[in-house]
Amino acid sequence: MNRVSVFLMFFVLCSISFYSFGQNLEYKIKTIVIDAGHGGKDPGAVGKQCYEKDIVLSIALKTGKYIKDNFPNIKVVYTRTTDVFIPLQERPEIANKNKADLFLSIHANSLENNTRTYGTETFILGLHKSKDNLAVAMKENSVMLYEDDYTNKYEGFNPKDPASYIIFNLMHSLHIDNSTSMAQHTEHQFKERVGRRSRGVKAAELWVLRKASMPSVLIEVGFISNPTEERFLRSEKGQDYMASGIFRAFRSYKEEIERHSSRTLEAKEKPIILESSTKVYYCVQIKSSSKKISLNDKVFEGLENVVETHVNGVYKYSVGQSSNLKTIIDEKKQIKKIIPDCFIVAYHKGKPISIKEAKKIQKS
Ligand SMILES: [Zn+2]
Repeated sequence: MNRVSVFLMFFVLCSISFYSFGQNLEYKIKTIVIDAGHGGKDPGAVGKQCYEKDIVLSIALKTGKYIKDNFPNIKVVYTRTTDVFIPLQERPEIANKNKADLFLSIHANSLENNTRTYGTETFILGLHKSKDNLAVAMKENSVMLYEDDYTNKYEGFNPKDPASYIIFNLMHSLHIDNSTSMAQHTEHQFKERVGRRSRGVKAAELWVLRKASMPSVLIEVGFISNPTEERFLRSEKGQDYMASGIFRAFRSYKEEIERHSSRTLEAKEKPIILESSTKVYYCVQIKSSSKKISLNDKVFEGLENVVETHVNGVYKYSVGQSSNLKTIIDEKKQIKKIIPDCFIVAYHKGKPISIKEAKKIQKS
């Protein structure tokens, strides 16, 4: 076998193993991490009659119980189950360590000198579009000030200085679609089933979500600065309703993404394997390197079915593989959110060719 055939064989084997792995991988939610905000020395928002930390702990535990009772196979992990202080960054770390499929952070809102405002809102990670959303982010991020060495721990971030928020500009939010979906289900349930006033789905620069490497939302269950809402949220019944709303949202979200995952897998084209075909195919190149990179490397985080090819002494890593250029253009739009400098490449008989050439061959 000459060298080229060896590379070819290698690529074929890679393709087969990665694709068969992909096709068996029907996505199911296995683990959820529920984070009751604040705790211990950090009371969170302070109402006339209650602390945020107590209300949200109770709602978190009730939500977890609903999930366990209805889906015994799903592992529910809490960041806290008692009144203890947990540093902000440990919360998403717990979710990351447990390889959670979803991270829910539960909070309650309050406003100074304003008892009128009330209602629920669910946040995803993003750039704030209004001063109010930035205010929520500042309030929730400020809990890091309870930690002694917060400047070191949080990369010099000052939660009270708007200029600090520029670091969020650089982030890529991998899980924005799923996070948005969970947030929408949550607000929908609060409004339709629990009868709350929904203030909608919002985006803000929330540290606790930034560090979570899975879909994640921060739920504000209402304003304890509003006496009526505070009364409701303090009551056993109110907490139970809110928890059941979050549970119902989770159930809809779970159904939606699991259904979606099996559909995508069914629809996935069979890989075109180089060996057999003189057919042209396209893929999205995400990385090339003179050295081999492990497919478990951090650079591929968030990407599925990465394929390695070795062409002219260079290792190239790509995702997606289709003879339909349009499919790959769509794929690239998604991948771009993770790898901004990715691009489309075409292959013919195991060799990279220009898109123009590829189109020409396809026409002929
Ligand atoms: Zn809070």
